[in-house]
Amino acid sequence: MDDYAVVLNAGSSSLKFCVYRRPKVESWRLESRGQIEGIGVSPRFSAKDGDGGRLDDHELDKGAVHDGRGALDALATWLRGQYGGARVLGVGHRVVHGGARFAGATRITPQVMSELRALIPLAPLHQPHNLAAIDAVSERLPGVPQVACFDTGFHRGQPAVAELVPLPREIRDGGVQRYGFHGLSYEYIASVLPEAAPEIAGGRVVVAHLGSGASLCAMKNRKSVDSTLGFTALDGLCMGTRPGALDPGVVLYLFQNLGLSAKEVETILYKKSGLIGISGISNDMRDLVGSTEPAARLAVDYFVYRTAKEIGALAAVLGGIDGLVFTAGIGENSPEIRTRICEASAWLGIELDSDANQARGPRISRAGSRVSAWVIPTNEELVIAKHTAMLLGLVGSRG
Ligand code: ADP
Repeated sequence: MDDYAVVLNAGSSSLKFCVYRRPKVESWRLESRGQIEGIGVSPRFSAKDGDGGRLDDHELDKGAVHDGRGALDALATWLRGQYGGARVLGVGHRVVHGGARFAGATRITPQVMSELRALIPLAPLHQPHNLAAIDAVSERLPGVPQVACFDTGFHRGQPAVAELVPLPREIRDGGVQRYGFHGLSYEYIASVLPEAAPEIAGGRVVVAHLGSGASLCAMKNRKSVDSTLGFTALDGLCMGTRPGALDPGVVLYLFQNLGLSAKEVETILYKKSGLIGISGISNDMRDLVGSTEPAARLAVDYFVYRTAKEIGALAAVLGGIDGLVFTAGIGENSPEIRTRICEASAWLGIELDSDANQARGPRISRAGSRVSAWVIPTNEELVIAKHTAMLLGLVGSRG
């Protein structure tokens, strides 16, 4: 019987998955990848095979797939149909927050789960869904080992000043520091830079992960030295529903002058701000770049302004930059946003090649550009799969 390993990335409205297969004598290879989108609203299942060919694409019953558990049930049904009595050797998960204790991939135990649950208030948008997926797999596949891979892990080892939150010591001692996020994406980019962009791989690079969550990472020789997300995933760039960097006095105002509860403030900060808050139209960049509404234009203008401003800040951290890399949903798919960010960063020495930018690169700057710009698609699931296989000893004699 063939062996399989499964990777799950469980979010609030989507469940992404990859299935890796190891036939008897060959090494692991991607068998299928896909997602359930629109959980609770208009759920849809889609899957492709390892070569990108369409395997399946159908609507799901909204009543049955109204939450993450329903989505996992739907995925389990599809996997059973597709792979029959396959033996699952391990399941790897994306877990957004590993706190101060968990840097590397970690095997799940009840003790680890209780420590990860304590971090839910630091990542209320993601952590509960990540952990619910682990619980659901434990129930359905008892005995199958599971591994958590953390979005914070890649940033550990940053200089002390980059991790510091300048509050009194007794507060910092409770774990209040800058953690940084999107680390699985940055780890993937760092791993492919030597091949994808060899001339900058050993240098000073800013990577822009621009998706519904958005951040920048400053890398020196492929190591994270700073990033725009901090203690929680609220800092830095403007995001789909989160504001990014905010004067903390605004939060005091919400409590003291508007009399809002902690839950209401949390909802505003995580779900009602950023692109949706500015535009009042959508949190999806596709809707906003296509709109002529002044509020939509302002949202896009602010997104570009803030990103360019933070690129400048990280260039200062790095003492100048050699390359700028775009990745994730907006970074990979929107030539318009890339153009605007590169134009706003022209002072750094970036000269865009508009044809290459339309063609998605990978190099999108002109040959003589002092600072080069690139588009590199991210692959967080591959990073999780590799860590899971390593930690569970799935690579080895037969692999
Ligand atoms: P996440 O994994 O954080 O949900 P993704 O990296 O998949 O996010 O990015 C999703 C976002 O990418 C969408 O919300 C949308 O705004 C944006 N996006 C996708 N395609 C395009 C496009 N062609 N133009 C502009 N934005 C796009």
